[in-house]
Parts: sequence; structure tokens; C-alpha cells
Amino acid sequence: MNHTPELHADRVEILKDKGRRAGRYVLYWMQGAQRVEDNHALEYAVQRANEHGLPPLVLFCLTDGYPEANRRHYRFMLEGLQDVAAGLSARGIEFLCLSGDPVELVVELAHRAAMVVTERAYLQVPKSWREQVAARISCSLLSVDTNLIVPVHIASRKREYAARTLRPRLREHFAQYCRPVPRHEPQQAPAAVKLARGLEPVDLRHIDTVLDRLRIDRTPSEVTPYFRGGEQEAERRLRIFLNRTFFSYAGFRNEPRKQAVSAMSPYLHFGHVSPLRLALEVLQVTRTDASAPRQLTLEDAIGGERGPDDGLRENKRAFLEELCVRRELAHNYVEYEPHYDRYSALPEWTRQTLTSHAGDVRPAIYDLQTLEAAATDDDYWNAAMTEMVKTGFMHNYMRMYWGKRILTWTTDPEQAYEIILALNNKYFLDGRDPNSYANVGWIFGLHDRPWPERAVFGTVRTMSAAGLERKCDISGYVRWVDQL
Ligand SMILES: Cc1cc2nc3c(=O)[nH]c(=O)nc-3n(C[C@H](O)[C@H](O)[C@H](O)COP(=O)(O)OP(=O)(O)OC[C@H]3O[C@@H](n4cnc5c(N)ncnc54)[C@H](O)[C@@H]3O)c2cc1C
Repeated sequence: MNHTPELHADRVEILKDKGRRAGRYVLYWMQGAQRVEDNHALEYAVQRANEHGLPPLVLFCLTDGYPEANRRHYRFMLEGLQDVAAGLSARGIEFLCLSGDPVELVVELAHRAAMVVTERAYLQVPKSWREQVAARISCSLLSVDTNLIVPVHIASRKREYAARTLRPRLREHFAQYCRPVPRHEPQQAPAAVKLARGLEPVDLRHIDTVLDRLRIDRTPSEVTPYFRGGEQEAERRLRIFLNRTFFSYAGFRNEPRKQAVSAMSPYLHFGHVSPLRLALEVLQVTRTDASAPRQLTLEDAIGGERGPDDGLRENKRAFLEELCVRRELAHNYVEYEPHYDRYSALPEWTRQTLTSHAGDVRPAIYDLQTLEAAATDDDYWNAAMTEMVKTGFMHNYMRMYWGKRILTWTTDPEQAYEIILALNNKYFLDGRDPNSYANVGWIFGLHDRPWPERAVFGTVRTMSAAGLERKCDISGYVRWVDQL
């Protein structure tokens, strides 16, 4: 099969090869990259459609069966789909949002497709959808890795131990893959698809009605006052970050009161923004004053040598360390660890040390209800839980403390793991992400090293209230949460 040389051929994987066949359109099954800009899968589908002399058709399948997704996640996603509808319409590309089982819907639409293009999936549910579609359609199915800067299988072919083992590999490939996404405009008029009986497009103009019809968990409150989904909102927030807070990112990234972070993770999770775009934007940031420093080169962006430097280069490096190294490490974990959502997948040394301390006296034991009500005796922890419940987000430094405390408040580490993961995925807009599994694992020592032995934690890294008081303005954070 002939891949475009412009769009790195190794971003594309053939899931089913049926060669070239006639059809009415090239179907792009949008799922994990819910955006019109900087989307390799969309551009690939448009390019292949042009080669075939066909229009592209974009399909999104709205299912209410996605595990752990609830009303706050769905609203955020539907807001994003409104932007997708508007963006595709502006580019003259037909968009269908249909309600139902994704596999059935894609198979139905694939009958008249010359080929189906989708994005590479990293987690089990969307991976199994792709396998089922591949087994049932009679045209080619191709997946494109568009939600990582360096595609997951290029970065590494095995489960990595830690950031230090993945970083050199990312450094090697970063300059090659950190390139703008080539854009293609459709050359044929939209397909004007006739839908089979019983299939109705979802009316994205009325999100409340759509939400009311979905059979989903409605218990966690919506987070509308704090977060709105979509490419436009991601862009607005990105501008604020790049123009203001980015300049203190390296210095204040661990200071929850300052909120000197991007808050891009919910947008990255739903694919409302591309990590590539974030990296390219950050690399371009300059100072307007005369003392403008040397730009950070692509070769130096990941784990480069530090030298006589100014803050700007440090901010860039610190941000790319999170966006590229830590985020890709999480994707590496879910790609190569089939049981990524289970305690048993954690490294043996961490499970051993935690088990050997399972009998240690806990400072307190709290049940799930007390935790969800943010009603523990720890005001710092309660503030973090309140931020999570109200806003769907929490600062990284507080996420670390939040998880480490739960480990001390449950009778055994395996139960703690299940509680942390369940709360993480229920309340965070960015939950149910590769980052969720890798970082909940980190609470228990994943991707970390042994530390001096302590009660309950064994040699797994601890975090304490005294540490928070020493390292950040934790009282300021508590006051800030009180005002939410
Ligand atoms: C217990 C725990 C649970 C977490 N659960 C999630 C989760 O469910 N979903 C999620 O996306 N992140 C999770 N994280 C990682 C991290 O806290 C968030 O990605 C980050 O706080 C998001 O804020 P931001 O976008 O402002 O990050 P920024 O500091 O602005 O960083 C930019 C981007 O880099 C990536 N990034 C930052 N920190 C990390 C990290 N530690 N690991 C991997 N990627 C990172 C994110 O994609 C982030 O959007 C968790 C961390 C911990 C300790």
C-alpha cells in the first residue's frame, strides 16, 4: 500500500489490507482525536480520498457504553464535538455523529467506503473496537498515530522501567517527529450519505437533550463553570498559558496555589488539542526584550545538557519533559502492559515492600463515602478532593499527595489502588487516560526507585503534610479551594 511520504509513513499502521477498492467515500472514524486541526488521521483520510477521487466522510460514534464515563465527561466531549462539526463544515467535509455501538456503526458505514481510516488506540476498549471492525469489514482499515509526538512503537518496542530509560530514545527521535501536520483540502464535494433506516444524526446543537437521552451515570456534578470542552477553548487557554504562566512554569510547576500549569490534560485526553501543536507552540515562545536568549533547538529539547541558560529555555525543557517524556512513558506502559489497570501489573519490588508493611498501623482508615465527601481529618487532602469533585481537575503536586494519603488510609495496598483509580476516573475530566494508569501506579512505586524504608510505604516514596508545608504555600491553596 502506498503511504504519503509527507505524513511520516510510520505513523500509519495497516489493521486490515484489502488493497484498493471502489466506494463512495473514504471514511474517517474519529474517536480519540476529536479535533479538526493538527490531526494526522484526518489529513491522511483527506489525502487518500483525493487520491481516489472521492470525498472524505467523518464519522463519530456516540456510545453510552464507555466504561466509567459519566455526565461530566460526556458534556465536555459533546462541547468538543460541536467544534468538530463547525470546523469540518468550514473545510467542506461531511460529518456524521451517530448514536449507537461504534463497531456496528462503523461496519454499517464501511459498506460504501473505499477504505476506513482511524486513529491509533492505546487502551483496551478502543483497541478491541478496532479489532472487531477489522474482522467484519471488507475494505482496508488503517490507523494513524496522531496523539503522540513520537509514535508509541517508534519510541520503544518494550515496557520501559522509568523516564530515564525512555528519555534517550525520545531524544533520538524528537526532532524527526516534532513537525507540523501536513494539511490537505478535499477536492470532491461532500458525499451526502443516505443513512440506513433507524440511524439518525445526533443533534449537537442541543447538548442537554443529547445528555438526557444517554444512559449514563449522572452522579458527579457537571463542571461547566470551570471547564468547557473543545478546540476553541483549548486554544484560548493555551494562549493564556503561553502569554503568562508559561514564563514561570519551571519555577512554580510544583506550587499548587500559583496554578502555573497549562491545564491542557483534559483537552489532550479527548484529543481536542494535539501534543505536537503544544510542543511546537512552546518551542516558538520568544521574549520581546532585547536580551532574547538562544532558541532551544529540537535536538536539545528533550533532556539536553544544561548550560549557562536563562529561564525561558528551562521552562521549555520542563514543559516538554512532562508533555513528551512523562506522557509518552504512560503510553508506553499501557501499550506494553496488558494488565495496566491492575495492581498485579506493578513492579515486583513495590508489591513486595508494600505487602511486607501491610500489617503496619495506619494513621486512620476512611471508607469511600468519607473520602468522596472530602471529610477526612486532613484539611490539605480535603481541599484537593474538593478541587477534584468541583472542577474535574487537580494540580499535579496535589494529585501526588492525594494518592499517597489514600494509600495510608486503607487496610491494604491493593484496595488502595482500586479506590484511587476509581476516584481518579470518576472525577477527573482527564481520567481514563494512559496517564491515569501510569500515575496511579506511580503512587505505588511504578517508574520510580526505592527510597529509605518507612512505615506503611516500605521503600515506596512517601509524601507528608509537613513536606507540603515546607515546599509550597499549602494554606494559600486551601484558601483558594475554599473560594471555588
Ligand atoms: C495520582 C495521580 C493521578 C493522575 N491522573 C491523571 C489522569 O487521570 N490523567 C492525566 O492526564 N494525568 C494524570 N496525572 C498526571 C498529571 O498530574 C496531570 O497530567 C497534570 O496535572 C495535568 O495538568 P496540566 O495539563 O496543567 O499539566 P502541565 O504541567 O501543564 O503539563 C502538560 C502536559 O504534560 C502531561 N503531564 C504532566 N504531568 C504528567 C505526568 N506526571 N505524567 C504524565 N503526563 C504528564 C499532561 O499531558 C499535561 O497536560 C496524575 C498524576 C498523579 C500523581
